[in-house]
Amino acid sequence: MTAPQISLPSIDALLKTSEGQTLLDQHGHLPVVAALREVCEESRLAGGAADPGHVIPALLSRASALLEAAARPSLRPVFNLTGTVLHTNLGRAPLPTAAIAAISAVAGSASNLEYDLAKGRRGDRDSHVEALICRITGAEAATVVNNNAAAVMAVLAALARRREVIVSRGELVEIGGSFRVPDVMATAGAKLREVGTTNRAHLRDFEAAIGPSTALLMKIHPSNYRIEGFTAAVPEAELAALGRRHDIPFVNDLGSGTLIDFRNLGLPHEPTVQEALAAGADLVTFSGDKLLGGPQAGFIAGRRDLVRRIKKHPIVRALRVDKLILAALETTLRLYADPARARAGIPALRLLSRPTSSIAAAAERLLPSVQQALAAEGMVSVQPCASQIGSGALPVDLLPSHALVVTPRRRGGKAVEQLAARFRALPTPVIGRVHQGDLHLDLRCLEEKDEPAFLAQLSLLSEVTTA
Ligand SMILES: *Cc1c(COP(=O)(O)O)cnc(C)c1O
Repeated sequence: MTAPQISLPSIDALLKTSEGQTLLDQHGHLPVVAALREVCEESRLAGGAADPGHVIPALLSRASALLEAAARPSLRPVFNLTGTVLHTNLGRAPLPTAAIAAISAVAGSASNLEYDLAKGRRGDRDSHVEALICRITGAEAATVVNNNAAAVMAVLAALARRREVIVSRGELVEIGGSFRVPDVMATAGAKLREVGTTNRAHLRDFEAAIGPSTALLMKIHPSNYRIEGFTAAVPEAELAALGRRHDIPFVNDLGSGTLIDFRNLGLPHEPTVQEALAAGADLVTFSGDKLLGGPQAGFIAGRRDLVRRIKKHPIVRALRVDKLILAALETTLRLYADPARARAGIPALRLLSRPTSSIAAAAERLLPSVQQALAAEGMVSVQPCASQIGSGALPVDLLPSHALVVTPRRRGGKAVEQLAARFRALPTPVIGRVHQGDLHLDLRCLEEKDEPAFLAQLSLLSEVTTA
């Protein structure tokens, strides 16, 4: 074997070209030198290039591609066309524009995060949201932590350590794999006292379980499943009254944190925080990024004395939220002052209540361009489908929607998975759902303002390579 003649330029020579200088400006010295070494090595192993006139541009362009790929952020926006609106793996609720502006307003400078401007001394970070959440829900007091799992953990650690928490057996749920009620209890140091059976629990079951070591009565929203048929759950008001008779707080872990009546959005009813408090809960815990439509956060709202005790517990210090979250949360909560503004301005509510006719119109509007862009891939059609709310809210209720359905030209094998993978490899990845050999792109979460960006990158589909 005779090695072909290799004449590769020096790294210095490459750096001195105008393209080399541009790369230096964009990426910095060390990464550019490393990328150039890598492409020269590749080229040397491949036997170099025959035409010296092409060597330098080819190396620079290859290095540029490597540097671009390395500079691409790991965490980036995607198109959620899965049909699950509040998709935990896709970041749950998209934030209101006003909340995004509020984040950038405080992100780059000092802020009064924990500083009382009137008194000129240390303040309380909850002050930015507590009055708002109390006004909306009727709670006496509230505090905010990292997420709802943290809220439940904080309540249990502060109020039930080494003591018993009575829960109906039918509510010992697992939510999203890592939130399992029995495990959370154990981690917080509380003792779980199960009562009733899987399908039925009665007031007398709770009453019989109360003893000297009872710390809390607790209700947990089953979130991601529903028990139907011969069932019985104790009404919240009765549990609350039982708790009051024995001086035991009643805690309701609502999960979703709905602040408006979903029936007004044309959606099935989901218990609101207001209703839970009005039914007598001493504390309610709920998420910020589920049906509330804000950033990831967990609320503990209710009796002032209990909130005060929880806030003193060291675990709350470890679970606190930062200024960016508080900025987004305050702004999102302010939108709830007027339900019409909440509905229009909070993307989660807007997407969940989006009329089916609007989604159908989007599908017809997009179909010709998508069909054209995917002509080499397969057939595209519009089909009715059903979106899910997601994040454990209303698990059984589906929202009528429309999808662009791509039927790959080649059937069988891995054709549809490969197509789905190429959609995911686009600059702004498109996440669809593979169903019976087709790729379904549920259009509920593709708002009209985002359609041009979605269409613009479809022409790249034939070029993208997947891992
Ligand atoms: C979702 C949920 C949680 C966990 O909330 P995160 O905000 O995801 O931590 C806890 N309890 C219930 C009932 C839930 O639905």
